Amino acid sequence: MEDIIRLLPDAVANQIAAGEVVQRPASVVKELLENAIDAGATNIQLVVKDAGKTLIQVIDNGKGMSFNDARLCFERHATSKLRKADDLFHICTKGFRGEALASIAAIAHVELKTKPAADEMGTLVLIEGAEIKEHAPITASDGTSIAVKNLFFNVPARRNFLKSDKVELTHIEEELYRVALIHHDIAFQYYNNGRMVLMLPASNMRQRIVNIFGQHLNDKLFPVELDHELMRITGFIAKPENAKKKSEQYMFINQRYVRHSLLNFAVEKAYADLIPQGSHPSYFIAIEIDPSTIDVNVSPTKVEVKLQDDRLIFGFLNSTVKKSLGTMSLTPMIDFDDSFPDIVTQKPEGVEVKPPVYSSNPSYNPFDKVPEKKHSSPFQQFGGGGFRRETPTSNDWENFLKELNVEKVEYPKEEQQTVDFQPETEHNELELPEIIPFFVFQNRYLFFELNGQVMTADLPNVQERILYDTYVNALKNTPIHPQQSLFPQTITLTAAQTDLAVSLKEDFLRLGYELEQMDSTHLAVNATPNDEEEEGDVQALIENVLTTYQTNQVIHKGDKISGIAQSMARQKRSKQRVPATQEEVKALIRKLFESDMPTLSPSGKSTLHIFGAEELRHYFE
Ligand code: ADP
Ligand code: MG
Repeated sequence: MEDIIRLLPDAVANQIAAGEVVQRPASVVKELLENAIDAGATNIQLVVKDAGKTLIQVIDNGKGMSFNDARLCFERHATSKLRKADDLFHICTKGFRGEALASIAAIAHVELKTKPAADEMGTLVLIEGAEIKEHAPITASDGTSIAVKNLFFNVPARRNFLKSDKVELTHIEEELYRVALIHHDIAFQYYNNGRMVLMLPASNMRQRIVNIFGQHLNDKLFPVELDHELMRITGFIAKPENAKKKSEQYMFINQRYVRHSLLNFAVEKAYADLIPQGSHPSYFIAIEIDPSTIDVNVSPTKVEVKLQDDRLIFGFLNSTVKKSLGTMSLTPMIDFDDSFPDIVTQKPEGVEVKPPVYSSNPSYNPFDKVPEKKHSSPFQQFGGGGFRRETPTSNDWENFLKELNVEKVEYPKEEQQTVDFQPETEHNELELPEIIPFFVFQNRYLFFELNGQVMTADLPNVQERILYDTYVNALKNTPIHPQQSLFPQTITLTAAQTDLAVSLKEDFLRLGYELEQMDSTHLAVNATPNDEEEEGDVQALIENVLTTYQTNQVIHKGDKISGIAQSMARQKRSKQRVPATQEEVKALIRKLFESDMPTLSPSGKSTLHIFGAEELRHYFE
C-alpha cells in the first residue's frame, strides 16, 4: 500500500493549535498580558476595540525583542522560557509552551513593534494568517506593542460563534482582572473603544482589589495570611455579609490564576455556617508553593493545575481562612494559638501533615441580630453573642425592608452621617470653631472633632484633593508664581518628550515652572514654584506629567487640564507638611471644604471618614 501519512503544513498545524489556545478575544488578551509580564514590564496598556473583534493591543515597557526574535516568536514552539526539559518542573513564567503567538498569528492580522532598551532601532513585523508581510527596522519605544486585528478573519466559523460584544468584553475584563489582581505591583491602563476604562497604578493587593471592584469592598476585606515552610498564603477574604450568588472569587497559585474546585471548596467550607445557602463568599487568595509540586501543563490555557498534594493545601487553606474569619471582628478575647504547630520542617515521607485546628468561633458574626449558633463562644462568657445592635444599621435595614417587601423607605435621620458639604455659591468662607481638638496618628491620619462629630482624614488623600484643585485653578485661572532659580536645573528627556514639554510650556509656566529648551533632549528649568523641591525631583515630576499626558492624549483624548493636574497632585501629595498647629489644621480643613468634591480624592479615594455618635455608641454596646 502506498504511504498516506503526511505532516501537516505549519500554517494548518497552527490553526489547529489556535483552536485550543484562542477560543475568543479574551484568550488573546490573556496571552498578550502574560507575555508582557514575563517580559518584566512595569506598565502595561490594554487597548480593545469592538470587544476585541477589531483590535486587541497590548503595549508594554518590558525587555523587548531583538530583530530576529521578533520574527521567531511567531514560530510554533518558539519560546525563550524553557531551555531544557527539566525546566518544565520549575515553571516560574506564565508562558513556556511557545504556541500563543504562533496560534494568534495564524488566525489574525498581527502588528508587532518591539525594541530592547539597549538597542538603537526597533523592529516591525506584520503577519497575516501566519504569513510574514513585513519584517523591518523601525523607530519604536522601549518594550513591545502587539496589535491583533480582525481576529478569526480566516476562520469564519469561529468568528460567527463569538457572543455579543457585551459578553466578549466581560470575558476580556475578567482576564484583565485575573492578571492585574495578582500583579498589583504593575501599573495597567485599559482602554475600550477609545475611552479609558480602568487606570490601575502600581499598588498593594488591597488597593488593587478596591481599584477594580470599587471602594465599597474596602471595609469588607480581611487579610488572610500564613507563612509556613510548605506554603505561603496571602490575600483577602470578604466579610460573610458580602456573600452573593455570584461573587468575586480569585485564587492564584504561584502568581497564576487557577480554577481548582477542591481549593475553592476549602474556602467556601470555612464560611459554611456564616452565609446563606446558595451564596458564595468573595475572596482573593494567593498561594505560593514549591513549583516542582505543581503541574501547570495540563491544559493549553494553564488555568487548570494538578497539585501533588491537594489535600494538604486544602487543610492549610481551610484553617487559614477560618482563622481570619474568627479574628475578623475585633475580638481581643479570643485566645488564638497563633502559630501553626511546627510539625514539619521537611515533610517526611509517608507522614500525613495535618493542618492545625483552631478553637475560634467561626460562626461569630457581628451582624447577626440574633445569634443562633450554639458553639461555645468566648463572648458567651461575657454574656453576649457578639455585637447586638438595638438600632439597625443601614445594612440591617436593607435586609429588614427586603423581608417586609417594602420598596422604598427613608432611613432614619441619624443614619445619614454626613456633614453638609454643599458648596456655598457666593461666600464659601467656612465657619470654624475657635478650637478644633485634633491629633495626628501615624503621621498620616488626622483625627479631629467638628460639629459634634469625630472625623478622621487621610492626609495624603486630602492633600491630593487640595493640590488637584489648586493646579486646576492655576491652569485655568490664577497661575502659580514662579521663583527664578539662581542655578537653573537641567533635565534630560527623550526628543519626543522634549517636543511635548515645549508645546506645554504655557501650562508648565502656569504651574510655576519656567522651561527653556537647550537642545533636542535637554531643558533648563529657570524657575520653579515657591515651595520647590531639590534636584532630581523636578526631573521626575516633569517626566511623569509628560508620560501621563501622553497616555491620556494618544489613546483616550483625555481632558488636558485634569490630566496634568492629576499627575502633579499624585506626585506631590505625600510631600506636604503634616499639620501640627491649630492654624494649620484649620487651614487644611478650610481648603478641603472649599472644594466641590471634598470627600473624594481625584483618584476616587475617600478623604474623610466620620464617626457619628451613633456609630461610636454601637461599638460599646
Ligand atoms: P511563550 O510565552 O509560551 O514562550 P509565546 O508564543 O507567547 O510563547 O511567545 C513566544 C516568545 O516571544 C516568548 O518566549 C518571548 O521570548 C517572546 N515574547 C512574546 N511576547 C513578548 C513581549 N511582550 N516582550 C518580550 N518578548 C516577548
Ligand atoms: Mg506566552
